[in-house]
Amino acid sequence: MSVVTRYAPSPTGALHIGGARTALFNWAFARHAGGTFVLRFEDTDRARSTRESEEDVLEALSWLGLDYDPVPGFAEIPRQSERLDRYRETVETLLRTGAAYRCTCTVEEVEAMREAARAAGRKPSYDGTCRDKGIGAEVDLPFCVRLRVIEGGLTRWEDLIAGNSGEDVSQVDDFVLARTDGTPIYHLAVVVDDHDMGITHVIRGREHMTSTPRQLLLYQALGFAPPQFAHVPLLVEPGGKKLSKRHASVSVQSYRDRGFTPETMLNFIARLGWGHSDLEIFSKEELVKLFSLTGVGRSPSQVHDDKLLWLSQHYIKTLPMGTLFSYARPFLEAEAGGPVPAEPGLERLLDLLRERSKSLAEMARLARFYLTDAIELEPKAARKHLTPRIAQPLQELRDALAALPKWSEEALKQSFHVALERHAVKLAELAQPVRVAIVGGAASPGIFETLELLGRERSLKRIDAAIERIGTDAED
Ligand code: GLU
Repeated sequence: MSVVTRYAPSPTGALHIGGARTALFNWAFARHAGGTFVLRFEDTDRARSTRESEEDVLEALSWLGLDYDPVPGFAEIPRQSERLDRYRETVETLLRTGAAYRCTCTVEEVEAMREAARAAGRKPSYDGTCRDKGIGAEVDLPFCVRLRVIEGGLTRWEDLIAGNSGEDVSQVDDFVLARTDGTPIYHLAVVVDDHDMGITHVIRGREHMTSTPRQLLLYQALGFAPPQFAHVPLLVEPGGKKLSKRHASVSVQSYRDRGFTPETMLNFIARLGWGHSDLEIFSKEELVKLFSLTGVGRSPSQVHDDKLLWLSQHYIKTLPMGTLFSYARPFLEAEAGGPVPAEPGLERLLDLLRERSKSLAEMARLARFYLTDAIELEPKAARKHLTPRIAQPLQELRDALAALPKWSEEALKQSFHVALERHAVKLAELAQPVRVAIVGGAASPGIFETLELLGRERSLKRIDAAIERIGTDAED
């Protein structure tokens, strides 16, 4: 039997880290098995579901590199809102076979039953009042449809992650399948969909685990073979607290916009629960090769930001320049305020910045001095390093640089040393003012390489501006 998995988001917002992990595990499991990975939009909440969210989810999946397959028998990604007839027809079948029945109890009556059960120390449940009344379609009272939960019904399963799971069938009441207005409830839709789409493995979040016994009963009532289930542990904050908004509601797109590469996110998300020995860094292909549900732990997974930054830096350091550049380009263009073509000088600068950048956004910020002449000097760094005392050596250095026959790292170094000796200042005392002058702040790659990259004309202009600034500040 070929594996078919699915990711079934409710399109009510962007794809968040928890959803991305569910999608990733389903994708990796299917790809590992040479099977099929499909999508379905669970958009029965009409008020909150939007086409825009569907697009967001698709865009995030594609950015992560998670490709999906067509669903046999469906022209496009199935939407629950377009399958209501199929669900209604299923409810009719269940009524016909006696597996379900109509119930005319009012909301108040059901609440009273639940209250009575609670008072007697039992689980709040429906007491089966209408079970054997044989209420027909002609009844002129509002009714809902309930599943007749039978003794001996199977409500336990061997979860592929959590192991032996479920609850006793006596704990499950005759639950509602279709509401008074005829709309089918969620469990029915999921079971019918998973069956119609040929799903063999349902891999989903732990929060859905309490639904599984009911869904298993529905499979039996419908005479469908149930899929296998794997419930992925919750995501928590470091230390084990419930995942805060800061993490839970962060979309994949916002990680992208903060300058994390898809490779980083794929590693980061996969390691939220899955592991293979002590492997931290793996390609998409390695993930597919190594992925298994036995590699998914049972305890909640902690979301660590420092892990993310560490991974991000690893990929920034190691990605081939072409790939790095294509990821960095939007960030570079934002700093430059216009198009940024790839050219050797910029690529060399990016190479120098790899070690210093934990994100592409940070890398672009550090490259800003090269991308635009509209740099602003950090006031604190300027105050500290552009002092009257340094004006003279700086001016002499500037003139020496202007006279250099060749603008090379070696020649630049020489000019610095001449100025240092004449004025008995240390390298840092001259290098820092130059750095502040040309990059705007006190941090950059090596000063000689930086000057060489920026070129003579741009460097001299900036040093001139700094000298002028010292003069003006001194007059104030
Ligand atoms: N639509 C559900 C969700 O977004 C998924 C339910 C399921 O996987 O069975 O959480």
